[in-house]
Amino acid sequence: MAKDISITVKRKKIAVVGAGIGGLVSALKLANDGFEVKVFESSDYPGGKIRTIDSSCGPVNIGPTVLTMLTVFENLFKEVGENIFDHLELKEQQILARHWWSDGTEFDLLANKDDAFGEVTKVFGTNAGEQYIKFYNSTKEMFDCFEKPIMKSSSPAALEILREICKNPKIIPALMPFLTLEKYLKSKFSDPKLQQLFGRYSTYVGGSPHNSPALMALVWQAEARGVWTVKGGISSVARAIEKLAIDRGVEFIYGHKVTEIQKSDFLVSKVCLDDGTCHAADAVIFNGDPRALALGLLGDDLRNIADKTRNANRSLSANVWGFEANTIDQNLVHHNVFFSDKVNSEFYDIEKGQIPLDPTLYICAQDREEANKGQTTERFEIILNAPPLSKRKPNKEDFEICKSVTLERFKNFGLNFQVDLERKNLTTPKDFSNLFPATEGSLYGQSPDGIMATFQRPKCVTSIANLFLVGGGVHPGAGVPMATLSALLAVEEMKTSQILI
Ligand SMILES: Cc1cc2nc3c(=O)[nH]c(=O)nc-3n(C[C@H](O)[C@H](O)[C@H](O)COP(=O)(O)OP(=O)(O)OC[C@H]3O[C@@H](n4cnc5c(N)ncnc54)[C@H](O)[C@@H]3O)c2cc1C
Repeated sequence: MAKDISITVKRKKIAVVGAGIGGLVSALKLANDGFEVKVFESSDYPGGKIRTIDSSCGPVNIGPTVLTMLTVFENLFKEVGENIFDHLELKEQQILARHWWSDGTEFDLLANKDDAFGEVTKVFGTNAGEQYIKFYNSTKEMFDCFEKPIMKSSSPAALEILREICKNPKIIPALMPFLTLEKYLKSKFSDPKLQQLFGRYSTYVGGSPHNSPALMALVWQAEARGVWTVKGGISSVARAIEKLAIDRGVEFIYGHKVTEIQKSDFLVSKVCLDDGTCHAADAVIFNGDPRALALGLLGDDLRNIADKTRNANRSLSANVWGFEANTIDQNLVHHNVFFSDKVNSEFYDIEKGQIPLDPTLYICAQDREEANKGQTTERFEIILNAPPLSKRKPNKEDFEICKSVTLERFKNFGLNFQVDLERKNLTTPKDFSNLFPATEGSLYGQSPDGIMATFQRPKCVTSIANLFLVGGGVHPGAGVPMATLSALLAVEEMKTSQILI
């Protein structure tokens, strides 16, 4: 009789703290690789900053609204044996964004490079068209140069970066210390409107054009490579990843905050929740802002993790409106930007800790994609940049200031939303700070300002061999694709470390 020689291998237990995109991706990948994974999330939904609020038209997006760097997600799904298009309905946008200035200028930045050249030339003149093509090419070179040694490396090494720069010497002028994005764009575009438009991309990672290094010009290339809307909003991405993770055995525990990550000897060994229960773990992935660890919010033993985040400058915050309103006749697309009258003045106000009085409004009209004919109401998200709490302590007038500034901008641009803007429609920097502990309301971790910012961000590997960090507060940076990359880097580091053998 054949002898059963199979042995039961005890699966290693991984605790993931936080179900933001970084936590979800880590959980999916690790479960797919055979680990026993539990995710602990203080709120009651997957996605973290990928949030929605309810309305009678359905959920209104009040976080990110589009996907960029689609290959990151295609590869993720492929790596777990799935095809992203079987799980998500994605639509590539031909118009990256529609831009408006109060002097009546309207400009569509088109996805196709040649079409975009035509449109820039039509609106801003032949010289501007040629400048656009040069700018496009130089930012593409920057993106290609830094993709491997920075975005796809868990710990960017100066030597490796130098080697890539030597292969692309044309990008050296953009790397000069003290050359800000604002100055760089002045040298690239004669028209202040185009300087303003491309400077705004630094806000996508929480920086301002006059403090961010010129290198931030590469952020726009994430959009230049394509922008996709997702049916049901970006929260469909979070839910799809959560579902695939559950199919692979991941257990999600929602509605409980992790109050302590306990250590025994030199390793983390348990996560303890606000209901008093503790869960043993062979390794822990932390997806909250790393500054929470440095502040001791998860126990005194971890205060030395990411300790530089304790006092580092914070990235931008925002006031975010989400509401349904009667359909307006303005010619909106999915992504719309209504610029401030004075170029970049809002960033000077933010630096002084003020709510900008002349802000740029980003408006997402999410139903312009999926609208039913005859629909009379539709959903909108409006984002106004704002100082984090480290620059401005919240006070009770803030809601009224934000509301009147927003209504004033609506008037200037003839935006006739018939809506009563109420407190429940607004997420303020203080609300963000409450939702995402230790962030000070910053949406993108520590500030990306300064040429050394990349090197100063916490990395996925920590001084505790079985504790890893993932998310927008960690290298390679903020944004849904970057937080996803951080999770993939962390999982790779975890699997190659000796700790789980
Ligand atoms: C208004 C807005 C617009 C944005 N627009 C874009 C965009 O267009 N494109 C783009 O790419 N990015 C955009 N971003 C940024 C993007 O949303 C974030 O960078 C990204 O989602 C962050 O993911 P994360 O992995 O860091 O997790 P987070 O989203 O930060 O989530 C972390 C999770 O951890 C949980 N958590 C923390 N501590 C604990 C604890 N102790 N116990 C239990 N749970 C805990 C939190 O509740 C949260 O759910 C936007 C963000 C906002 C707010």
